[in-house]
Amino acid sequence: MIVSDESLKHTESRLRQQFGLSLEEAKEYLKVSIERKIRRQFGKTIKEAEPHEIYYALSRTILDYSIESWYNTTRNYNEKQVKQVYYFSAEFLMGRYMGNNLMNLQIYEEIKEVLKDLNIDINIIEDSEPDPGLGNGGLGRLAACFLDSLATLKMPGHGYGIRYKYGMFQQKIENGYQMEYPDDWLKYGDPWSIKRLDRVYDIKFGGEVEVHKDEVGKEYYKRMNTETINAIAYDAPILGYGTETVNTLRLWEAKSPQGFDLQLFNDQKYLEASASAVKAEDLSRVLYPNDTERSGKELRLKQQYFFVSASLQDIVRKYKEKYGNVFSGFADKIAIQLNDTHPVVAIPELMRIFLDSEKISWVEAWEICQKVFSYTNHTVLAEALEKWDINIFSSLLPRVYQIIEEINRRFMTEISKKYPEDWAKQQRMSIIGNGEVRMAWLAIVGTHAINGVAAIHTEILKHQTLKDWYELYPEKFQNKTNGVTQRRWLLKANPELAGYITSLIGSEWVTDLSELKKLEKYIEDDNVLNKLLEIKHKKKQDLAEYIKENNNIEVNIDSIFDVQVKRLHEYKRQLLNVFHIMDLYNKIKENPLLEIVPRTFIFGAKAAPGYRRAKSIIKLINAVAEKVNNDPEINDKIKVIFIEDYKVSLAEKIIPAADVSEQISTAGKEASGTGNMKLMMNGAMTLGTLDGANIEIVEEAGEENNFIFGLKADEVERLNLYGKSNPLEEYHVVEGLKKVIDQLVDGTYYDNHRGLFKELHASLLNGVEGGKPDQYYVLKDFASYRATQTRLQNTYKDKRKWAQMMLMNIANSGKFSSDRTIKEYAKDIWNISSFE
Ligand SMILES: *Cc1c(COP(=O)(O)O)cnc(C)c1O
Repeated sequence: MIVSDESLKHTESRLRQQFGLSLEEAKEYLKVSIERKIRRQFGKTIKEAEPHEIYYALSRTILDYSIESWYNTTRNYNEKQVKQVYYFSAEFLMGRYMGNNLMNLQIYEEIKEVLKDLNIDINIIEDSEPDPGLGNGGLGRLAACFLDSLATLKMPGHGYGIRYKYGMFQQKIENGYQMEYPDDWLKYGDPWSIKRLDRVYDIKFGGEVEVHKDEVGKEYYKRMNTETINAIAYDAPILGYGTETVNTLRLWEAKSPQGFDLQLFNDQKYLEASASAVKAEDLSRVLYPNDTERSGKELRLKQQYFFVSASLQDIVRKYKEKYGNVFSGFADKIAIQLNDTHPVVAIPELMRIFLDSEKISWVEAWEICQKVFSYTNHTVLAEALEKWDINIFSSLLPRVYQIIEEINRRFMTEISKKYPEDWAKQQRMSIIGNGEVRMAWLAIVGTHAINGVAAIHTEILKHQTLKDWYELYPEKFQNKTNGVTQRRWLLKANPELAGYITSLIGSEWVTDLSELKKLEKYIEDDNVLNKLLEIKHKKKQDLAEYIKENNNIEVNIDSIFDVQVKRLHEYKRQLLNVFHIMDLYNKIKENPLLEIVPRTFIFGAKAAPGYRRAKSIIKLINAVAEKVNNDPEINDKIKVIFIEDYKVSLAEKIIPAADVSEQISTAGKEASGTGNMKLMMNGAMTLGTLDGANIEIVEEAGEENNFIFGLKADEVERLNLYGKSNPLEEYHVVEGLKKVIDQLVDGTYYDNHRGLFKELHASLLNGVEGGKPDQYYVLKDFASYRATQTRLQNTYKDKRKWAQMMLMNIANSGKFSSDRTIKEYAKDIWNISSFE
């Protein structure tokens, strides 16, 4: 090992203090506890137990160990009546809990020793934990990083979402095609959550709205003949790093209140007897696997309302317990962040609770709502802005729909005064229009703050996508550049690098990432530079072993590990990356003596199951891999690896091993990106466009330490608006490009006559289904991308220079901690601070 065990143990154990025991006694205590749990739960001795059984018992032991702090945190918040923040999100991409929780409790090393004494390898136990994938990608992972930062910063912030029975599908590559399998993450139970049968709410759908009068003759509305579904809470602890703070992630499961119809059962109608229960439970059965695409399906709206209504009922109940029925202070005690438009139905739902249950006046209720809620926009892609057909909406949620109509009526009155002559504008801004409810508009009207997730993204919102709205409410718009938690993405994922950094500058960076700046002083220190290369080499070796095991391919550890891991989407342009590989392959075939630095191109990406073109691109990557990897003439100069089932636990393996971070979206399309940040802090160079947070990465680390290419956002915008951009030009003019494009259809790469590559070809050169040809400018950016790839490989030859660039990227990644992001939300939007 490069890094001594000593430097890994940069945090002192808290086991001893916690139990008031000696280390030996504490270990003994843990051993006994794990053994007893295995015995009770599985009827086995520890020797007989499977890894996942040991995982379960150990996790329950650690949960026991944290339960006191959890209880105390909740009690302290209540007693001191501090303002609480609730992060509403349809997705929480948490990744594995166990290792992360051990690390945040700072007892990882001790537990490792305890297991070792029992002849158990902690890595095997960690690997047996299913990776809870209750999210699609960046948006869900951001929610998870935020929870980690909130708890670490000792801030009273909690998550509310859905406990999907099946998370993101499991991806397998069969014959080069993506196949989807259910992700049964609860198969062996979930030791990290506690079912709360004392926290159950009725969620009502359908029926009619009736007007009633109360004692004093005041009218109020009541929902009748509804279908009721129960929401049951499951709580998971969110442990701060090195603090006593334990916040809560509360996820709702759907259950039928009737359960089982005994009458039908007795009549021997067995299937019918459980039909209504099954239908109710459909609600939390599965995560929609679409990233940045709205589905418009009724079940999806039901899911959204289900978790939002349960969460709000829960919040209002807690508020009343603490503060009674006086709601004037509600917004001083509660803030709710809406993660994208998915939970925006919370705005009219809280109005409904205030109006119909709490009998508050419209004006007062509306003022509270605007103060409580704030909204984060995650994308400018038109296909992502949620809109609901008013027929679906009003029959599913008749009372909520009425309230939206009233919100809109009042809003339209306001803007018709403001823009009396501008009918077009009034129509554009109406919350209900074209037979649809526009959730983003509702979010803007019903909140006090709207934020984008990177500087460029917020500017695009203000001046393009949401221009009308910025004009109307300039004071509501803010930027909050995303971040990631360095605890999971550096300390946990890369203990070798983390330990080495700590040996150089101390461990403050774990909770204050700006400390990394101190690394800059080693820029001329050959010892340090060599060590960085050595650690990278070690992580590449680890990944190579995984690839050998899973893909049965040997990769060259001294090659450049060129990594693109993220959801598969046309705007992310995996296609640009593949075209470069195809071109490189052609060049080597034409000239087998061609001198290149060996490369390993690594992909990881899931495509939405219904996104045909994205799936074609996966097939293409695998077809190219098949050809290149098995061509003896290539002599192992390049290898193409598609790692199946990209998810958080795999990201933790892949990212520390990357030399190059591919962030090559069409400029203006990637709102922020967070993968780019994880890769930067692990010493990978960004090869990217000036898009999303890449711009800020380059601002921090210096353009000279990264590889920037391609069209800029304003150039793309101009081409979109006025351009006579003709991809045929590049096709004919750019050397080698025609050959690559032609290879899609000349039989070089084989797609079993399914016409997939032909369709890709047409989408680039002709445009299909009314789309513009090459609408993501793959051809237009190809030459620039290839030239930059060449520059990159030449830079890589100078190992010292490369190590210096790595150092500069790591040292300047401080801004991209989600701790920084959360502090900004806390100060500018939520008005909360750390709770001591
Ligand atoms: C960070 C992360 C993402 C987001 O990656 P981008 O490159 O920002 O799109 C997606 N999936 C997983 C599993 C992640 O960890």
